[in-house]
Amino acid sequence: MTRAHRRSSFLSMPRLASRITALGTENAFKLGEDIARVAARGVDVVKLNLGEPDVDSAPHINEAAVAEIRRGNSHYCDPQGLLSLRQAICAHVERTRGITVTPDRVVVTPGGKPPIGYAVQTYADPGDEVIYPSPGFPIYESWITYAGATPVPLHLREETGFTFTADDLAALITPRTRLVYLCSPSNPTGGVLNADEIAAIARVIRERAPADVRVYSDEIYEHCVFDGARHASIAAEPGMAERTILVSGHSKGFAMTGWRLGYAILPTAEEAAIFKQLTINTVSCVPPFIQEAGRVALESAESGPYVQRMVDEFQARRDMVVAALNDIPGIRCQNPRGAFYVFPNVEGVCRQLGILDAYDTLAPAVRARTSPSAMLQMFLLYRHGVATMDRNSFGRIGAEGEHFLRLSIATSRERLAEGIARIRTASTDRAGFETFMREEGLYD
Ligand code: PMP
Repeated sequence: MTRAHRRSSFLSMPRLASRITALGTENAFKLGEDIARVAARGVDVVKLNLGEPDVDSAPHINEAAVAEIRRGNSHYCDPQGLLSLRQAICAHVERTRGITVTPDRVVVTPGGKPPIGYAVQTYADPGDEVIYPSPGFPIYESWITYAGATPVPLHLREETGFTFTADDLAALITPRTRLVYLCSPSNPTGGVLNADEIAAIARVIRERAPADVRVYSDEIYEHCVFDGARHASIAAEPGMAERTILVSGHSKGFAMTGWRLGYAILPTAEEAAIFKQLTINTVSCVPPFIQEAGRVALESAESGPYVQRMVDEFQARRDMVVAALNDIPGIRCQNPRGAFYVFPNVEGVCRQLGILDAYDTLAPAVRARTSPSAMLQMFLLYRHGVATMDRNSFGRIGAEGEHFLRLSIATSRERLAEGIARIRTASTDRAGFETFMREEGLYD
């Protein structure tokens, strides 16, 4: 340890800006610390927590990026995105959604995540209301609270495959509603809105929401739909292209999570210019060789079969995992119709392990930072070596009393079978849970 290091470890934390305390996080990344601690004990952890395909990006895409670097395409470029890629994105959405888009409405971003924050910053002042799905991708709630806007969770119902009705949405719309996040196929539930549901939601937006409301349609899982269904976008509904920010990217469908490539299609070129300005203020641009490879992913005939093979495998795993989970007493699992997650209800397991009672006896401050499903998540990881995600990792507001876990099926069938076998063993290990509570010191 250097002297500078020693000195800095004695310094106290600086006074922090109050807004930073309102920023949330994505626990799927944070859980890595706990997994490392368990792995250091010699446990071979089955990781069902990760939200990324378990295949590498396709060779024809990799080769395109390498060729671009070799020919010197490694400099700053247009912060809005290369015109060649923006044109390819326009052709892609026209082909897949039947909507016509011009490149001046497209902004290329480092992944599908940055536009989530851009949208709140662009459309919502403090006090404005923003509707978002819960359970849903945690970054929606995180950015809404960070920006001082009012979070309005739209609770998804397990009984209907984690979709919602137009009436559910209508009940939340007020004159202060500025932005509505939608996500289909959904992380974490795998729920998919069908064409009729999308048409009904669009009607509610047109008829009940303020005229200038914006709908943020997160379509990052557009490629991952099962049972022969076709992805549908709200942007294709009458009157919705002029209200919708359509966001997608290459992370999930093309197995390119580490490349950091996504895009937003804005209702107008003026709004696209604001997203471009936010890009200039943060990352300047997405690397041009990444963008050219992303164009190849969208245009090459080799991409379709590659993606389809991956999605077919997810579907086969979905069938296997849903059946195996429903066979465990205390677990009830819906059949997801897209993405690559299952989201079982684990209330029965929480009850039979004594977790609900243990949670009630925690000190209020400790209770506030955990939940029964988070305690089950930690028990599964620390005592049975299987990593999952808890319900509250997908939106905390109003989630009390909901007991779910998210399992990613982007893992080999062998590892999935092993993980589920461990969950089955854990589900009746009441004595093990008592020792876990006594010995791990996580809830003192
Ligand atoms: N939206 C949803 C619903 C997601 O699940 C994710 C990734 N887990 C993202 C956006 C962000 O994707 P990216 O890695 O491309 O930033």
